[in-house]
Amino acid sequence: MKKETTLNVVNLSRSLQEKETEIGLLQKTFTEIGSELDLDKVFQIVSERARELINAETILIPLLDDNCETYTYRGGAGKNADEIVGESLPLEYGVCGWVWKQKRPWWQGMLDELSDEEKNLWEREAGNMILVPLQGKRHFLGGIAGLNKQDGSTFDKNDLNLLQLFASIVSVAIENAMAVKSMEASHELNEDYRFKLENLNKQLIESSKELEYLSLYDSVTALPNRSLFHDRLARDISEAKRNDTEVGVLLIDIDSFKDINDTLGHDYGDRLLNKIARRFEEEIKNNETLARLGGDEFIIVLPDHNRVKVIKRAEQLIYSLKDAFKIEQNTIVVSASVGVSVYPEHGKTISNLLSHADFAMYEAKSGNLSICVYNPDNDHLVQGHLAMVADVRKALDEKHFDLHYQPKISTETGRIVAAEALGRWHSESRGNVPPIIFIKVLEQNGLIDEYTYWAVETALAQAKQWQSGYSTLRIAVNVSPQTLMHPDFIDNINLIIKDEKDGELLTFEITENLFLSEFDRLADVLEHVCSLGVELSIDDYGTGYSSLSRLRRLPVRELKIDQSFIKEMVANKDDEAIVHSTIELAHNLGLTVVAEGVETQGAFDLLDHLGCDIIQGYLISRPVPNDEFEVLLQ
Ligand code: C2E
Ligand code: MG
Ligand code: MG
Repeated sequence: MKKETTLNVVNLSRSLQEKETEIGLLQKTFTEIGSELDLDKVFQIVSERARELINAETILIPLLDDNCETYTYRGGAGKNADEIVGESLPLEYGVCGWVWKQKRPWWQGMLDELSDEEKNLWEREAGNMILVPLQGKRHFLGGIAGLNKQDGSTFDKNDLNLLQLFASIVSVAIENAMAVKSMEASHELNEDYRFKLENLNKQLIESSKELEYLSLYDSVTALPNRSLFHDRLARDISEAKRNDTEVGVLLIDIDSFKDINDTLGHDYGDRLLNKIARRFEEEIKNNETLARLGGDEFIIVLPDHNRVKVIKRAEQLIYSLKDAFKIEQNTIVVSASVGVSVYPEHGKTISNLLSHADFAMYEAKSGNLSICVYNPDNDHLVQGHLAMVADVRKALDEKHFDLHYQPKISTETGRIVAAEALGRWHSESRGNVPPIIFIKVLEQNGLIDEYTYWAVETALAQAKQWQSGYSTLRIAVNVSPQTLMHPDFIDNINLIIKDEKDGELLTFEITENLFLSEFDRLADVLEHVCSLGVELSIDDYGTGYSSLSRLRRLPVRELKIDQSFIKEMVANKDDEAIVHSTIELAHNLGLTVVAEGVETQGAFDLLDHLGCDIIQGYLISRPVPNDEFEVLLQ
């Protein structure tokens, strides 16, 4: 009895001791993990304490994944734990799935409740495994599993109770740590998003800056484009209205720019435009706007400028072009025509001021002037550009163009030795439109070839008629570089000029800018033209790109000194010197020299004295219709 009592007391004190240890362990765990928010540390503490608590060889913590279809061993301690932690398994697989479904712990005492089939499956391992659910406040988390007792015995009811108690305490800590972790993760995600967003924003700002740049600036010259020009002019107009001041608008068009583009290529043309822009830029002050309208057109807005001031500025701009431009091995002399309109005198709206400056610019070109101020008296021609294109097209289709003929006379004999055919267009709605205008429209709209072949055909027919009635004369036709360098030119011209008898009645006037073309191809085309008996003449010599060395290697017969030199020659010694040396040089190259734009007897006499061969100009006759020319021939 005493022995039994002693044994009971011993057992009791042992179990009391055990209980104390267990409670101590639980308390320790609780304080340890209660303040721990690092999930991995929580798992580590929980596994180790659980292992101590139930004397398990291994403790594993399988937790349900977010997808609710799998679970992953998130923590563990003891034998093989390292290998298992991190593994994921399907939920329906193994004891864990059973616990999840039943929301009850698994231990060997459950075996009796199993179906035979399940029993057979798990009986063998039942005693070596214990798994209690980890039930969070909000949802089922997973479980804590013990594998094999360290002393080789099986997990019993006591182990089950202890582990369940343990699980209920730690589940809160685990849930909290998981919540913190997912908060951290989403915070990180947020940070990540924020970073990405910031970057995206930066990119957006950059590209919108770029877009703004592209939408407001011209990519070739980096000058403001048409829309920025509009803004600036609108601003300047409203300011001028408020302060009762004037605004000058200058439209600048580069002469013969198309030839440069056509012969040297757009790349080259762009580089030239860029250089021209830099020259103009130097002439522009802070509150003024220099913009590129497109093509070879620049526009300048000058606040607080009256007509007199604007003209002065226009002269400076023209002057800024006087030095040649050097691109690669080429030297290019550029001239420009400027049209001027002034607010409010010539218009109160942007479109009025622009179209009037445009009109003045065309007037400048056709009058061979560098600057022209808008004059409402000549306004009958002003209509939209698009309407102009349509009208020119119609005139071409309906053969409304005409040729007038201007005689070229020999200084030696005073006789008419040739004629130049010049295009004329009398439009019903616009009146007489100068060729400088309609030729440009034809060129810009791909119509110049058709026009030129018509002009060559017409001139040839005329020359044949004069040949039979009066005398044999060559008629000179102006041929644009664009037409001459077209791949089909030779085939097309062969259809019109059938043999040398035809060719000998024609001259083609070409401009210097043609010499910027690819030399070999140009030489082939010109050789072919010569083989037809047609003579070649360089028109407007001195205004474009000159290369006498190239000239020498091409079958050119005649050189026409531009009228700008001839006009000033009598009063200006420099121009006289240029004309003189050009005549000498041309003669040395075996070329005939023509002076165009001879208006006075003084000029005629001087040219005669300098040895010029042929004279063309109003002094002799203006370009006239064929019947009037026949009178001259008689
Ligand atoms: P261009 O070939 O240099 O023709 C000479 C221009 O000078 C003509 O102007 C002529 O009328 C003008 N002119 C002749 N003598 C005098 C003078 O003593 N004083 C003045 N102030 N001017 C004189 P137009 O007829 O207005 O033609 C201008 C330009 O238009 C021509 O210059 C030519 O480049 C172009 N052009 C005319 N007809 C044609 C054509 O059928 N085809 C092509 N491609 N261009 C043409
Ligand atoms: Mg000509
Ligand atoms: Mg000319």
